Amino acid sequence: MTAITVVGSINLDLVASGAPLPLAGETVTGAVLGRHPGGKGANQALAARRLGADVVMVGRVGDDAMADEALALLAAEGVDLARVVRDPDAATGVALIAVSPEGENQISVCAGANWTLSPDRLASGGGDALICQLELPCETVAAAVGHAKGFVCLNLAPAAPVPDTMLARADLVVVNEGEAAFYGDQLSGLPGLVAVTLGARGARLMKAGAVVAECPAPAVQVIDTTGAGDAFVGALTLALVEGQPPDRALRFACAAGALAATRAGAQPALPRRDEVEALLSDPDAAR
Ligand code: ADP
Repeated sequence: MTAITVVGSINLDLVASGAPLPLAGETVTGAVLGRHPGGKGANQALAARRLGADVVMVGRVGDDAMADEALALLAAEGVDLARVVRDPDAATGVALIAVSPEGENQISVCAGANWTLSPDRLASGGGDALICQLELPCETVAAAVGHAKGFVCLNLAPAAPVPDTMLARADLVVVNEGEAAFYGDQLSGLPGLVAVTLGARGARLMKAGAVVAECPAPAVQVIDTTGAGDAFVGALTLALVEGQPPDRALRFACAAGALAATRAGAQPALPRRDEVEALLSDPDAAR
């Protein structure tokens, strides 16, 4: 089985939905509270696990009840949490999310314990592949990437300045369109693969500025695209490390992203391998 290590964020998402978004200084009432495990690191760890990888999660949470909620699905599905440390001096990371009846949102992230994962607290990573995002301190991500022995996937989300040396070590960089615009030319001369996700238009895989593969998104009934990008990252990394050819790996990742968009929420929506294979062989889903 492919062994993947994810060094990344673990959050509890607190979602207030159903009330108008408050303006500065305003209080709104009538919202309903939802609590969901989240964080790009945790989401991508679960994505790879559901698709069949052996996954080790490296991260930090607080020594509080929110940590148990944030880790609940990872624990239930067999992600190895031995390297998730409970920090006695910081709270579990929380994303405060307000969603209006029209579906617009406002998000405020309290990084908490995620931000206390310093480079000296990273034990050396094993496994066939490493997946990182940018919800940890940049120097921690750089150290994790620098220590990695196997395949490295860097999901540059949320977009933030990163050193060229870190990008040059990545076998795969994944960005959405907004992130691609943020990094611009910094991505064009990289030695590894660059995947650009295009939402309902699918995704494109590039190498040295040239298109290697392109894939339209499968036609699905979209409910909520939260988690689609994380499903894509976990799926593309796993497929490439398994040795699938780039065009097949990209189709696998687009199918995983599309399936995540057919269900509400992030972690509960992440698809299993048999669902992805079924969508790939469904002629009705082809565009
Ligand atoms: P992010 O959420 O990180 O911005 P995208 O919105 O680009 O990422 O979505 C990631 C992937 O999920 C896309 O490349 C695509 O494969 C899939 N996806 C996203 N939205 C849809 C959609 N409306 N229909 C089908 N697939 C989608």
